[in-house]
Amino acid sequence: MENLQFETKALHGRGLQKDIHNSIRFPVYAGVAFGFESAQDMEDAFLHRKPSHAYSRITNPSVELFEQTLTQLENGFGSIALSSGMAAITNALLALLNKGDNIIASKYLFGNTLSLIKETFKGFGIQSRLVDVNNETQLENAIDERSRVVFCETITNPQMNVSDFSLISKIAQKHNLVLVVDNTVTTPYLFNAKEHGVNVVVHSTTKYISGGATSVGGVIIDLGNYDWTQNPALKKYHNHGQFAFLGRLRKEVYRNFGSCMSPQTAYLQTLGLETLSLRISKSCDNALFIAQCLEKNPKINSVNYPGLESSGFYHLAKTQFNNVSSKKFASGGVISFELESRDAAFNFINRLCLIKRATNINDNKSLIIHPASTIFSDFTSTDKEEMGVTDKLVRLSVGIEDVKDLMDDINQAISKV
Ligand SMILES: *Cc1c(COP(=O)(O)O)cnc(C)c1O
Repeated sequence: MENLQFETKALHGRGLQKDIHNSIRFPVYAGVAFGFESAQDMEDAFLHRKPSHAYSRITNPSVELFEQTLTQLENGFGSIALSSGMAAITNALLALLNKGDNIIASKYLFGNTLSLIKETFKGFGIQSRLVDVNNETQLENAIDERSRVVFCETITNPQMNVSDFSLISKIAQKHNLVLVVDNTVTTPYLFNAKEHGVNVVVHSTTKYISGGATSVGGVIIDLGNYDWTQNPALKKYHNHGQFAFLGRLRKEVYRNFGSCMSPQTAYLQTLGLETLSLRISKSCDNALFIAQCLEKNPKINSVNYPGLESSGFYHLAKTQFNNVSSKKFASGGVISFELESRDAAFNFINRLCLIKRATNINDNKSLIIHPASTIFSDFTSTDKEEMGVTDKLVRLSVGIEDVKDLMDDINQAISKV
């Protein structure tokens, strides 16, 4: 059957993966090596003449099922699953950048991504230029002849800024740059990256996709809409056509760095993916309701959530983030808000009973954190101020609990602040 809907594709994958016992739940192929009938078969496998599995660091049937399902959901060309979201970002960027190249990135990024791009890459001779990607002049001024990639997130965290993809993709295309986007917090269920001119998607599958924070994982997806002969780092692979990027990863960068996803993780996350649409819908509905309540609370100074009509990003969010099936607008499950002081923020966090104090997002359970003293504690106060990570700010990742129970917990905690 052609043209299946998102929910159906998430459940049935591509239907290519058939277990020899016809198990309905595709098994965990936990082993390392796969046998061959003959020396010729082995040569064919190593020369990619016949698709087959040889060694689980490079490909594995359980991981392949997860990759193919995600490729389908993003309407992509192909995917590679990795050990974490950070591994996905690192591998994707190192496959596209040579020493001396530079990357144009949003100045509002997940903390570890920012540290990777700003600090770690420096040692590889790769420069970074951090800009407000929604500002055309800043973007244009940062680009030179050694720029290769534009990198940003769909909704930044904890600022909850929304990237303007019509602007960013227009400029990336004009300069032949690869647009790489972290779609972790929106997933293909809310954001159709390909329609918005993105070339490569990365995810931390640890978040919404894993289905309840069961395991750490990541994925790189080539959306099949970039001419890889335009990228000098892929020179050796230019004769691979559309496979150039994934080919360099699979045969070199990903293989040599060894950051593969384990078959057990692929099993858990394929299971998680089956219910993504149900979980993300509930989480977004809950988040919108809570953001609306917080906005009316006099003890809350300000609320950042692009789903609020009062948000400066509301219109941008509304044009970009839509539930793929119902076309209903939704803008993710993460909210951030400021209380009156750092003490008030700490007191509020300490008094919560149901909502867990933890550093993760998009779990089934609601989680809270004070970003300035934790995730961003390595940054200077000037950097934090610049990034909008103030001492008064609290980040709430809204889960799929009954929303009344969540509001009761929030209200009892606020009333004591
Ligand atoms: C968590 C996260 C990452 C890093 O993913 P890990 O799986 O923890 O390595 C990257 N980007 C975003 C937006 C994230 O939320």
